[in-house]
Amino acid sequence: MKKNTRKRLAFKDYFQGIINGDKVILAQAITLAESRLKSDSVLAEKLVAKLIPLKNVSIRLGITGSPGVGKSTFIEAFGKYLTELGKKVAVLAIDPSSTKTKGSILGDKTRMEELSKDPLAFIRPTSTGNALGGVANRTREAVLLCEAAGFDVIIIETVGVGQSETAVRNMVDFFLLLMLAGSGDELQGIKKGIMEMADGIVVTKADGENLKKATQAQADFTHALHLFQLPESNWQARVLTASAIEKKGIAKTWEMINDNLAFTQSNKFLQRNRQLQQLTWFQENFELALKESLRKNVSIQKEKEKLERKILANEITPLHASKALFKKFLSAGNRG
Ligand code: GDP
Repeated sequence: MKKNTRKRLAFKDYFQGIINGDKVILAQAITLAESRLKSDSVLAEKLVAKLIPLKNVSIRLGITGSPGVGKSTFIEAFGKYLTELGKKVAVLAIDPSSTKTKGSILGDKTRMEELSKDPLAFIRPTSTGNALGGVANRTREAVLLCEAAGFDVIIIETVGVGQSETAVRNMVDFFLLLMLAGSGDELQGIKKGIMEMADGIVVTKADGENLKKATQAQADFTHALHLFQLPESNWQARVLTASAIEKKGIAKTWEMINDNLAFTQSNKFLQRNRQLQQLTWFQENFELALKESLRKNVSIQKEKEKLERKILANEITPLHASKALFKKFLSAGNRG
């Protein structure tokens, strides 16, 4: 419903508004980038292309953790700490729920109440609900729009479930994992995978009765991290404890991030990583375009269904069927 009543601005108004750091227009431009209407996404792409050369270089942070670990409380305290340092902070929260369901994990308006009122902060939940191009594309565009609007630190928040971690890892400079002490599942397989991606871990809620457990978890996670191979950046991930409620460990987290950036800047990984991320973006888009053209090709879809029936009837092997379909796709492409 909201979509139909939304009025679209002229290209120059989006452009000028973003350059001026107008948060209302920035939000509208992100909505444009998220839209499933072709005309909207074309306009958003044009906008991003025009803004890229003018954009400011920001620090891109990914923050992830299971629901309830304390992400929004931590980001609020961390964000406030940064705005008090005079930094402009944008938080793009990736909401894994569908656009249709109201029960979103991140869409709750009361999250980061204080930060959202801060003139130096901009908070934007983005839903992953089935948009063209997937969440990675839309978030990348949102990051660039925020950078063009002059934000110094862009935080991409994701819930520690599903695929979004890898996508976010591929678009940030520093990936922070928030973990809870004594939840019993610290070193499960899925957590291990996410731990391996992290540049830093913060054990949350290190206060009151939980403080001792948090300090123990810090030692355990540090030990676990040292068992992993060093990543390509050569950066040894660190583990800290923090209490967002008592505002402890927040400055130390910022210090850790800055240490990492200084380290990766001096060994040239930072720049290279950003370049590789550009290539990933290019590859993902190309693959997406291929998939789209396959999906839209009626004769290919018909042939695919025919081959599927043959596979089920044991008339053709899956391998032969996929080769046959690919051949047909190539010849259809040549004809087109
Ligand atoms: P999210 O689901 O990861 O965004 O978690 P929230 O930030 O909503 O926090 C989940 C719960 O943990 C809330 O009840 C918070 O009040 C509580 N919480 C968050 N941070 C802290 C903290 O530093 N200390 C304590 N004791 N509780 C916290």
